[in-house]
Amino acid sequence: MITKVLKIDINSLQLARNIILSGGAVAIPTETVYGLGANAYDTGAVENIFAIKGRPNDNPLIVHVHRGFDISELVTDIPDYAVKLADAYLPGPLTMVYRSKGTVSPAVSCGLSTVAIRIPSHEGVQKFLKYVNLPIAAPSANISKHVSPTSAGHVYADLNGKIELILDGGVSAGGIESTVLDCTGPEPVILRTGLITREMIKKVAGACGVYEYKDGETARSPGLKYKHYSPDCRTKLFKYEEISDAMEYFTQRMRNGVKAVILCDDHVAKMVGVNYVLNLGKTPEDMAANLYARLREGEKIAQEIIAIEPKNKSGVMAGVLNRLKKACAEVK
Ligand code: AMP
Ligand code: MG
Repeated sequence: MITKVLKIDINSLQLARNIILSGGAVAIPTETVYGLGANAYDTGAVENIFAIKGRPNDNPLIVHVHRGFDISELVTDIPDYAVKLADAYLPGPLTMVYRSKGTVSPAVSCGLSTVAIRIPSHEGVQKFLKYVNLPIAAPSANISKHVSPTSAGHVYADLNGKIELILDGGVSAGGIESTVLDCTGPEPVILRTGLITREMIKKVAGACGVYEYKDGETARSPGLKYKHYSPDCRTKLFKYEEISDAMEYFTQRMRNGVKAVILCDDHVAKMVGVNYVLNLGKTPEDMAANLYARLREGEKIAQEIIAIEPKNKSGVMAGVLNRLKKACAEVK
């Protein structure tokens, strides 16, 4: 299959709609990462997405809709705090989990009674969603467990030959996946950290829990239990307090003939004193935007990425650190 990469215009939108209506998958830009979208009402189309990505079949997908879409077609029991949060932060990088009305295919939520809904703010994807006027189930447009894509080029590198069309909407400005928020209980609970932080949710909803998955238990958000976001090379993560250990390890690896590279923020980059590092940038927002591109750069140029955590770990950094830890996790 030839994979086309097209800018978003009336011709590419028409092609995208034809593919979606015939049960196919289209890669779409969003403000977080690129997604691989299919008609959420069509079980065959949704199952196809799992097959293309090699995604475990118990890891549910997020359903994307345009800003005018009436989500009461898809979900029930929308609590007051969710209405307030939607007013404050949507369209944007916040996915909200509700009880499903059972209208989307059961394959979307892998048998759960809930469904995750997102209204992305990226103008290109809004045009696409409006044009198809269907709920679009979309996980990130990468091979399962690999680093998420933040450009059409990243999607092409993973899915060339496997899909017909990549809509090119430029580089994803946000850079890490949306915050996933459980809105089925008396107060919202963060299932996955992201650019909409706990502080931001608390400010609007009054309260906000954070779910922490513990190994072995049934995950409230099944995606949490898998290794994710991993580059195709060795990785090792050091804490901020362990910079000197990281540098000793780096020197050792290089001495043993292993091509290693340091991944860190701008502050740490200035401390380590090596010529070339994968620099994530200065602010938490820069680091979120750059993380996946730097990991993909690292896997191309090095045999091992030695990552050093930044000093600050709150707010948006919590999301960045969560992805960095998963990228460097040892379990598959
Ligand atoms: P991805 O699309 O690869 O960014 O992953 C989607 C994330 O949303 C995964 O962590 C899923 O476990 C989570 N998710 C999707 N649907 C649900 C749901 N109904 N309940 C809880 N988590 C969900
Ligand atoms: Mg993903």
